[in-house]
Amino acid sequence: MSLGRQLKNPAGPIRPARPRLGPRTAYLVQRILMPSPFYRWLGARIESSPRVRRLFTGTEKKIKEEIFGCRMCGQCALPATGYACPMSCPKELRNGPCGGVGADGSCEVHPEMRCVWVQAYERAASQGRAGDLARLQRPIDHRLWGQSSWVNYWQGRDENLWTDDDGLATPAALHLPATLKGPATRQAPQDPQDRQGPADRPGQRKQGPAGQQTRDGMRVRAGRK
Ligand code: SF4
Repeated sequence: MSLGRQLKNPAGPIRPARPRLGPRTAYLVQRILMPSPFYRWLGARIESSPRVRRLFTGTEKKIKEEIFGCRMCGQCALPATGYACPMSCPKELRNGPCGGVGADGSCEVHPEMRCVWVQAYERAASQGRAGDLARLQRPIDHRLWGQSSWVNYWQGRDENLWTDDDGLATPAALHLPATLKGPATRQAPQDPQDRQGPADRPGQRKQGPAGQQTRDGMRVRAGRK
């Protein structure tokens, strides 16, 4: 995050939030809020009146701030991050943790707090959704800060926020200590090449079968959600 925005952040320094809604309930609510002709109509009505729009956005802010530590980026990543808000990461990382996560899962900037991405992994894994974390979050449009992400969602404006779950061979894994690990959700098919030697060690790049760069055996391809 830029120093300018960090300084302007009215709520003070960004701190990792701890979601107040359990992951199971959060995924259930997600199903209720899925875009439909009704929600599209509702979104259009909300947007047609500046006053209603302000009211609705203010209500969304209150609810999501309280439950998820939402900062109203307007392009919600929650469905793909186990309902742990990545914008509550002090570094605003939307594609996984930085290299400073403590061995106990603590945040590097606020060691007394748990890393948002450790929480995201645990929450997603507990619902069989750890594979979601293998999607790549695209850069957000910073002009949309403060807008209602619900309305943007219903109006289909955030459809390309992340890549497809396109059969990535390796599920997301944060290499947590055994005591912190959630249940495994998707078995990675064993790639015989993974057993071949030093060239396949984590951190070393190799060429994928379709000529794509891969890291740790993970294929990366952009696509639609
Ligand atoms: S709208 Fe943005 S800031 Fe708010 S919960 Fe979703 S990702 Fe986090």
